[in-house]
Amino acid sequence: LAEWDHAHVWHPFTARDWWESREPLIIHAAEGVELIDLQGRRYLDGVSSLWCNVHGHRHPVIDQAIRDQLDRLAHSTLLGVTHPPAIELAKRLADLAPPGLTRVFFSDNGSTAVESAVKMAFQYWRNKPDPEPDRTLFMTLGDAYHGDTLGDVSLGGIELFHAAFGPLLFPTLRIPTPHPYRDPQRRSPDQVRDHCLGVAERLFQTHGPQVAAVVAEPLIQGAAGLLVHPPGFLKGLRDLCDHYGTLLICDEVAVGFGRTGTMFACEQEKVIPDFLCLAKGITAGYLPLAATLTHERIYNAFLGSPECPKTFYHGHTFSGNPLAAAAALASLRVFEEEKTLETLPPKIAHLRHRLERFARLPQVGDVRGVGLMAGIELVENVETRASFPPAWRIGARVCQRARDYGVLTRPLGDVLVIVPPLVVTIADLDRLFDALEAAWNDVRE
Ligand code: PMP
Repeated sequence: LAEWDHAHVWHPFTARDWWESREPLIIHAAEGVELIDLQGRRYLDGVSSLWCNVHGHRHPVIDQAIRDQLDRLAHSTLLGVTHPPAIELAKRLADLAPPGLTRVFFSDNGSTAVESAVKMAFQYWRNKPDPEPDRTLFMTLGDAYHGDTLGDVSLGGIELFHAAFGPLLFPTLRIPTPHPYRDPQRRSPDQVRDHCLGVAERLFQTHGPQVAAVVAEPLIQGAAGLLVHPPGFLKGLRDLCDHYGTLLICDEVAVGFGRTGTMFACEQEKVIPDFLCLAKGITAGYLPLAATLTHERIYNAFLGSPECPKTFYHGHTFSGNPLAAAAALASLRVFEEEKTLETLPPKIAHLRHRLERFARLPQVGDVRGVGLMAGIELVENVETRASFPPAWRIGARVCQRARDYGVLTRPLGDVLVIVPPLVVTIADLDRLFDALEAAWNDVRE
């Protein structure tokens, strides 16, 4: 298997040296918060299998729901027909989401959840009764990551992902990321927030009538390096969108489904977006599924009339797949039965406590997070905040070493990522942090 993997599998976002420096880790089973390799070694899943596992692996309720659905229907389509799991899930999501987001468009991954919202917003301005066809520009954040379709990469602000595809991308208006740790003037979080909202306001003053939508991850930008926004930033964006009459797209692909401590992150700032993009945790991390929720006002603009029929020119073969929808419904049942959200505050407090303890180790520049989503930024010089030379691959080396201590995580540059399943215990969190502390001490030596 290792040989075939080496010969044939093209791993996403995985640099060759990361892979070749070690035997590939072949995961063949899982249980709760642990992944199990072919040799039977157990690893704590510190990144929830790419930020999507919620209730642990092989949860009996979700497993059974998928088996039951398999006995009825594995796949049909939502083009022209429908099926019970998709209908029930749409209803459940509409009930759970912030008020007014009652229309649910299914696709099958996080990238398409955002891509769908972008195309809906673009087409909405052309379709609505009093069209505003000049609204063609999207405003996004520096360091943004919204997925890997060309539309999402256009929105993205991470140079590594963006630069390679430059000529294929559409231009965007860019608001700087409100990230106090990297603010050159070291201003307070509130000052950084106001500065970034000020830039957004100036962009609106110049381009307001051309802005189709603002796109943002609420509260924390994951792939950018777990960058936590100062309180009030999302609300500030919502206010600007309202003032200049444009739409707000919230990408909750990473932060949705309890990750930040509430079911959806935008709830924490009492913000109702025009589009809510969901994926990853929607099926508790079991199967690919995504949903883009929006208002009836937007949907109605796509209905047209008998004389002039309209449609949304976008759809996916596996949209709302029944097995995935059944897993999603089961996950929502588990949220209720196990009172998952109510179990989170002590875990979040303990994670915070362990982050602060980690911050006392040498060459730890910043620790930050929201809910059960955190990052530890390692730097060469704590005073100047200078990063390590990228070629040293410090973050990757720490994660490699943590593997020897039975913990799996991935770095984002030199930021160690901590995104465990919501079902972790305090003891699991201690195991995770003990391994990371030991790994960092080893690598520094
Ligand atoms: N948006 C955000 C905020 C994400 O974190 C990701 C994935 N890391 C995506 C979109 C893309 O999701 P997917 O990988 O399922 O296409």
